[in-house]
Amino acid sequence: MKIIDILKDIFAPKKCYSCKKEWHFLCKNCLEKLWYFEESCYICKEYSKNFEKHFYCKNNDFYLDKIIILTHYRHFIIKKLIKDAKFYHKKDILDDFSIYLWDLILKYIDKNKNDLIFITPPMYFLKKIKRWYNVGEVLIKFLNKKYQINYDFNLIKKVKNTTPQSHLDKLKRLENLENAFKVNEKLLKKYKNKTFVIIDDVVSTKTTINEIAKLLKKFWVKNIIWLCISSD
Ligand SMILES: [Zn+2]
Ligand SMILES: [Zn+2]
Repeated sequence: MKIIDILKDIFAPKKCYSCKKEWHFLCKNCLEKLWYFEESCYICKEYSKNFEKHFYCKNNDFYLDKIIILTHYRHFIIKKLIKDAKFYHKKDILDDFSIYLWDLILKYIDKNKNDLIFITPPMYFLKKIKRWYNVGEVLIKFLNKKYQINYDFNLIKKVKNTTPQSHLDKLKRLENLENAFKVNEKLLKKYKNKTFVIIDDVVSTKTTINEIAKLLKKFWVKNIIWLCISSD
C-alpha cells in the first residue's frame, strides 16, 4: 500500500466494511449478522455461560480464569478490519471495537469497573517503534476516553525480543518466552484484590498470555480475564 493510499484511507469518512453505511467501520447490525463468538469454556471449547471455565475442566498449565471473545477471526471482514487497524494505521477501527468490547465487559464480567485493572501484552520497545503503536494500548485508551477505566501499561514489561510465536512449535514457544516478561512488584501491590483484564486483538497462540497470567499468579493475583476481539 502506498503512503498516499494510507492517508486517503485515514481521512475518508467512516464506512461499514460490510454494509457500506456511514459512521462506523463495523456497524452493530453487521456485527450481529457476522455472529458473536459462542459463550464457551476455553479449555474444552464446549458451551459455558458467561465464558466461565467449567469447574471440572482443570488444566494445571493454564493460568487464565476465562477468555471472553467478541467474534470470529475466520470471517474475512473481521480479518480485514483487524489487519487494517494493526498494519495500515486505521486506529479508528479500534474505536468501534472498543464499544463492542465494553458491551462484553458489562455482560460477562460481574464486577464494578473500579475493581478492574486493564492491561495488554507489552511489546518489546524496538518492535513498538517499528509498528508505531500497540493495538491493545489503543483499545484501552479508547475505552478509557468513553468509560473511564483503570489501566496500567507499566505493570508488565517485555524485556526480551522474542521470535513471533506463530513461527515456532509448542516446546520452542515456551523456551522463547522464558524470562521474556517482568512484573513491577511495587505497582502490583497497589492492585490488591483487583481483577486483571488483558485486552488483545486476536486469540492466536495462548502461550504468551498464559505466561503473563502465570507471572501475575506467582504474585497472588486471583482473577485474570483475557478479553479479545476475535478468535479462530
Ligand atoms: Zn454495517
Ligand atoms: Zn470446559
